[in-house]
Amino acid sequence: MVLLHLPRFPLYFNLRAYSKTTLLRPPKSVLTTSEPAAAAAAADPSLSLEKLFVPPETTVCVDTARVLNGSNILLSNYANDAIVSQAEFVKSSVRTEDCPSDGLPEFALVGRSNVGKSSLLNSIVRRKKLALTSKKPGKTQCINHFRINDSWYLVDLPGYGYASAPQELRMDWEQFTKDYFLNRSTLVSVFLLIDASIPAKKIDLDYASWLGQNQIPMTLIFTKCDKRKKKKNGGKRPEENVNDFQDLIRGFFQSVPPWIMTSSVTHQGRDEILLHMAQLRNYWLKH
Ligand code: GDP
Repeated sequence: MVLLHLPRFPLYFNLRAYSKTTLLRPPKSVLTTSEPAAAAAAADPSLSLEKLFVPPETTVCVDTARVLNGSNILLSNYANDAIVSQAEFVKSSVRTEDCPSDGLPEFALVGRSNVGKSSLLNSIVRRKKLALTSKKPGKTQCINHFRINDSWYLVDLPGYGYASAPQELRMDWEQFTKDYFLNRSTLVSVFLLIDASIPAKKIDLDYASWLGQNQIPMTLIFTKCDKRKKKKNGGKRPEENVNDFQDLIRGFFQSVPPWIMTSSVTHQGRDEILLHMAQLRNYWLKH
């Protein structure tokens, strides 16, 4: 069977049956980060075809399609330039209007405080302390831009859910983050970080729901997938928490959002995140 995906980026669409065969040939360098989609689906029923994310403009033959490891994302022909060779902090902004205006595509990382956002950012860029910049006093509540390879941005947004933060301040961060999501024209996708070592939290579900309602492109990044302490997390493995979260957010989206399992301890998911960003970015640059 051959399937065609015809998305109207930035919305994500469902698979559609198609009668013409077009083979998808993954670049040689990424083969170890992906496996045949048919095998992945056979091994894990949660990866059935209708639950896969097909990147924009990807024509897929299910016999040859490959899915990125530990994710529901199919590899597309846009998966080029996924290596980070340079990363630098550029600026902190308190308003969307103050963000860099050079038009480069960007991906925003957001999540509950302590979800592992700084650790993930450092893991992605292979630098031990780059994200410390965002944790310096005065910058934790800012939109922090990091330029990668002089050609795109990783954006660190304030963590949400600080129990100790005054209500007024919380409202303020929320407002400017939402303003950024709604008005930043170079934002390719929000990367919403979810701790996979614990059951779903209401605040995370609310965040995902808001993004879905406002049709903001979103990728779910499950963090701490190396953690397997049973007592603390209610007895569930990270894979089960990942599946539960999918079930809980299904109603918020027109189609299945992309998701990736990660660990900043083992670096699981690092290459897969970069490939996913590359395929979204390269498509975005062409349109
Ligand atoms: P942030 O507040 O979201 O920036 O979170 P941090 O990156 O500072 O991490 C919060 C805590 O979680 C720290 O103690 C980290 O060492 C720990 N942590 C972060 N990522 C992982 C991970 O992938 N696995 C495990 N086991 N711990 C992690």
